[in-house]
Amino acid sequence: MEVKILGSAAGGAFPQWNCACTNCRAVRAGTFHGKTRTQTQVAITQDGRSWFLLGASPDLRTQIEATPELHPREGVRQSPIAGVVLANADLDHVLGLLLLRELQPLRVHATASVRRILREDNSMFGMLQRIPNQAVWTDFEPGTEFHLCNAQGEESGLRCQAWSLSTHYPAYVASDRQSQLVSGEASLGFIIDSASRSRLAYMPAVPQLDDTLVQQLNTCDVLLFDGTFWSDDELIRVQGSGQTALQMGHIPVESILPKLAALRRPRKIFLHINNTNPMLDEASPQYRQVRGAGWEIAEDGWQFKI
Ligand SMILES: [Zn+2]
Repeated sequence: MEVKILGSAAGGAFPQWNCACTNCRAVRAGTFHGKTRTQTQVAITQDGRSWFLLGASPDLRTQIEATPELHPREGVRQSPIAGVVLANADLDHVLGLLLLRELQPLRVHATASVRRILREDNSMFGMLQRIPNQAVWTDFEPGTEFHLCNAQGEESGLRCQAWSLSTHYPAYVASDRQSQLVSGEASLGFIIDSASRSRLAYMPAVPQLDDTLVQQLNTCDVLLFDGTFWSDDELIRVQGSGQTALQMGHIPVESILPKLAALRRPRKIFLHINNTNPMLDEASPQYRQVRGAGWEIAEDGWQFKI
């Protein structure tokens, strides 16, 4: 399996347009020790020809242009992007679907609840259904394995299992609609197996870590894991008000490090990093602590084979 990290920041990217936190200010002043980042986007392939997107970020157009493997190869209209797998209905995870509306056949794998939110409640997503077999939606259920397929139904060699991680739907989903949805289909993490049995975990929003999940993570070769916030009160300290990291569905990194210290097998990489997170600053003690604990901090453009 080939893995490309096209974007590694949380919603809003880094720097964020309306943010003047210490990190964002330093980037604009040219004094920041570290990289800017677009919003989290990962692409994977088994055969190097058909690529699958994990989520569809609002930065997808520039991310595709920055990645030659995702450029058209033959004919006037073509794309190596065969499908998309959705982990939730958050705007920074699904808005990129609207950037893929140019009549290109695609398979969209999603839970039935996420599909209903997008297709039944948000008419803009009808732009993906203007011709027959444009976007072909396939429901998956948490806990059951499914094959990543293109629009024609051809299997890619990649198998995916979704883990239910949160029962929290985005704030834009109306409360009467939320009562009709399956709570366990709100927010997923993925464990993806290749044809050669290498295994990738993609978990950009993890509100809690139980023993079952930790055991599963230890069967993986690479973890792409929730690095949104360093501390639970990070946003409150920056903004003066707001929600804690845990209330927003993210375990802070300073709590993850001891909880996952015993993982031996996987290469451990944080992604989905909020612009306020002090570990983005490579001159910070938090950066040194993360690196010293054996974790890496994803940057846009990283790629590897497993
Ligand atoms: Zn900021």
